[in-house]
Amino acid sequence: MFNIYLEELLEAMQNVFFFIDNFWNIIYVSRNIKKILGYTPSDVVGNNIVDYIYKDDLKKTFSEIMYAIQTRESKRVECRVRIKTGNFVWVEAIFSPFFDQEGNLSGLYGVLRDIEDRKKIIKEKDKNIEKFKAIIESTKGGICVHDDKNILEMNSLFKKMFRIEGEQCAAEKILDFTRNNLKDPDTFFNRLEGIFKSKGIRNGRLETKDGKVYEYYTKMIYKDKHVYGRIWQIFDVTAQVKYEEKLKKKEEQYRKFFELMPDPIIVHKNGLILYANRAAEEIVKVENLVGRSMLDFLHDDFKKIVMERVKETYENGVTLPWLEEKIIDMDGNIIDVEVAATPVDLDGEIVSLVVIRDLRQKKELERNRMILNEAMELERVRSEFFANISHELRTPLNVILGAVQLMQIYINNEDIKTQEKLSKYVKMMKQNCYRLLRLVNNLIDITKIDSGYFEIHPQNVDIIKLAENIVSSVVDYVERFGLKIFFKTDRKERVIAVDPDKIERILLNLISNAIKFTDAGGSIFVNISNDEKYVKISVKDTGIGIPKEKLGLIFDRFRQVDKSLSRNHEGSGIGLSLVKALVEMHDGEIAATSEEGEGSEFTVILPAKTIETKDISLVDRSITNGYVERINIEFSDIYS
Ligand code: ADP
Repeated sequence: MFNIYLEELLEAMQNVFFFIDNFWNIIYVSRNIKKILGYTPSDVVGNNIVDYIYKDDLKKTFSEIMYAIQTRESKRVECRVRIKTGNFVWVEAIFSPFFDQEGNLSGLYGVLRDIEDRKKIIKEKDKNIEKFKAIIESTKGGICVHDDKNILEMNSLFKKMFRIEGEQCAAEKILDFTRNNLKDPDTFFNRLEGIFKSKGIRNGRLETKDGKVYEYYTKMIYKDKHVYGRIWQIFDVTAQVKYEEKLKKKEEQYRKFFELMPDPIIVHKNGLILYANRAAEEIVKVENLVGRSMLDFLHDDFKKIVMERVKETYENGVTLPWLEEKIIDMDGNIIDVEVAATPVDLDGEIVSLVVIRDLRQKKELERNRMILNEAMELERVRSEFFANISHELRTPLNVILGAVQLMQIYINNEDIKTQEKLSKYVKMMKQNCYRLLRLVNNLIDITKIDSGYFEIHPQNVDIIKLAENIVSSVVDYVERFGLKIFFKTDRKERVIAVDPDKIERILLNLISNAIKFTDAGGSIFVNISNDEKYVKISVKDTGIGIPKEKLGLIFDRFRQVDKSLSRNHEGSGIGLSLVKALVEMHDGEIAATSEEGEGSEFTVILPAKTIETKDISLVDRSITNGYVERINIEFSDIYS
């Protein structure tokens, strides 16, 4: 009854129950041996336990058994036993000796438990501990783990830092060391209270009297949700601190260097100014540029191109070459500058370092030089003009004088030949008087225009008719030089407000030039084309043309393409500048195109506007006497 009960109990406990005699032979074993070792009881009963115990564990097992017998107490032993498959598993066996009435040993009974899993876990744990130890040994910092009384773990680096030999009284030694060797232990101990209370990571620096600097990181550690202790990680940052100090000094030097640079320097990120030296703040007259946008000081004309350049610095990481820009200071003054930029890595962030050169002085010099050059050029042109004008004045005067002298000789002679000669001289004198008159007129007009006294008197005029009349009235003259003149218009009538006298001078001037610079056999075309807003009058010839490089100069006063006094053509160089001034007084424009050897074309564009009046003046210029005179005057330069 008891046996069955015990058997059930042992089964329930999942332990194997056994008896051995004092020669270690198995007398009894419970059935559940099968679960652990794979045997049935009949497989093992009668055999000696020595057959089952792993040979390396025999000594240990039997010494425990002997100890149990001696002390008459139960003894526990862990050993490996062979299972049915032939392999060995870890078991825990408890041996309890039992004795007969005389006190002699009868045998031992025991309990057997499979501890394979537990062994595995312990093995893993040992491995983990080893791993943990290896890790904390190999970290660059000193590590110490403690609870509220004792040091639980330290790596050798920590021991070295706090001069601890052996593990004993480590906590006290650490405190002693801290108290005696820190430069300012009080501050640290004051801080310590807070550290112990805090749950997060705390860190700080400790400086020792011998110049070492340690940086600590400390944190509570938990086990099963309860505070287990605290871990400290301590790094020797002495070298780093020294390096930082050096760097700081260097930085200070650089800062000074930048500050004292005479050229403005800024550092910006996407236009936002992060740093500006004194020169930069001075040039725009702002006390502190940091935080301001670079664009605030940039002239509108340059905003787009500068933003593109900024983008380029970031995207391609390239140094941008010098670019002339204009910036605006706080008083609104525009300053000419030259700017170069380069990308710089500032703590992993790419920013732009911009160097600015103040060009004011350089520009001023350039401007002065230009003014000087212009003045010199003006002086040169002026002297040329005076040489020219004296020639222009002297030639007709000489001709007139010569003619007068000859006339004096023939004055009393009445024969026909003499009469013919006399009329030729009168003609010569007349033409040269016209030339002088034209020159004087032009000079007077130019002077009037310059001084603002020249006025135009616009009236509504049929410009087509006006131009046509002018052209037909010069046909004779043109043909006299072996040239043809053609007039073409895309409209029959167009009334616009102009000063007819001035239009006449414009056209006569252009036609007289066309005659002057076109050899016999050539043609002159006067074309009018209209559109909604403008009337275009062009005078085109098939003459010698104007060299490309001179085309831009012909409207300048006193300019002539061929300046030598021995040139083929007469003229003062005033004509086209006067024409231009007259066109511009009508709010119009004049332009010239030319191909050397092929001909030239002068195009006058007049705005098609009218003034408010009912009258349309349609003066037929060809019939007035004064008109012939005017043609004579305008064409007086041309010699047949
Ligand atoms: P100028 O009184 O000397 O003719 P202009 O001002 O009328 O002065 O003309 C300036 C110069 O432009 C001329 O000297 C000549 O060299 C050039 N020029 C003007 N018109 C023509 C043209 N139709 N063909 C070629 N050259 C021309």
